[in-house]
Amino acid sequence: MRFDDQRIILVENLRKKGINDEKVLAAFSNEERDLFVPEEFKRLSYLDQALNIGEGQTISQPFIVAYMMQVLELNDNDLVLEIGTGSGYQTALISSLVKEVYTVERIKSLAWKARKILKKIEKKNIYFKIGDGSKGWIDAYPICEEFDKIIVSAGSPGIPEPLISQLKIGGKMIIPSGELDKQVLNLITKKEDGYQKEVLSECLFVPLIGKSGWNNL
Ligand code: SAM
Repeated sequence: MRFDDQRIILVENLRKKGINDEKVLAAFSNEERDLFVPEEFKRLSYLDQALNIGEGQTISQPFIVAYMMQVLELNDNDLVLEIGTGSGYQTALISSLVKEVYTVERIKSLAWKARKILKKIEKKNIYFKIGDGSKGWIDAYPICEEFDKIIVSAGSPGIPEPLISQLKIGGKMIIPSGELDKQVLNLITKKEDGYQKEVLSECLFVPLIGKSGWNNL
């Protein structure tokens, strides 16, 4: 079956699994996941599963990406910080729904590969950084001191303080936290006097490696 047809089926499956934000579903209809998947796994691109992208990392499962995007309630004026560019697929999806995406990846080879694909498909509202995203992106360029939304695609032992401080009051962050082999997905809402945390579901992500993540892996 052609990838275009497989993509339609993937979107139907996301809908059946509870994704009902039409903007999120439209993003999944438009972005070609096969572009971000290594040659040897291309035939599996439209299955609802995580796939290996090299360097011991994965392109996330479509459902979890869609779910995280849905709970963030993305708006076209949002400035979004993404930690863990990975393949760049989620970056592409988010970029189609918001004003700008600032994405940070610690593994240089993955960051360059993602950047090349995203440039090729002419995404113009994405800014890239190679480094430890557990510290957020202080001195982001273009200048952005606080973000409307933050999405973390790797599991952290706790909620990194630098990410809280780079979230606008009223802004939302989605972040997995817990043990290395089992985490929960947290929806954080920043308040004037701290933040509110809602635990949404269990999940399993690769570790967030860095100063405010798993510092000693
Ligand atoms: N959502 C991505 C996609 O669609 O391909 C998949 C992200 S993958 C599950 C998690 C990524 O987080 C990996 O590429 C990993 O290298 C990266 N990562 C882990 N710790 C990080 C850190 N401290 N800063 C930035 N990236 C980090």
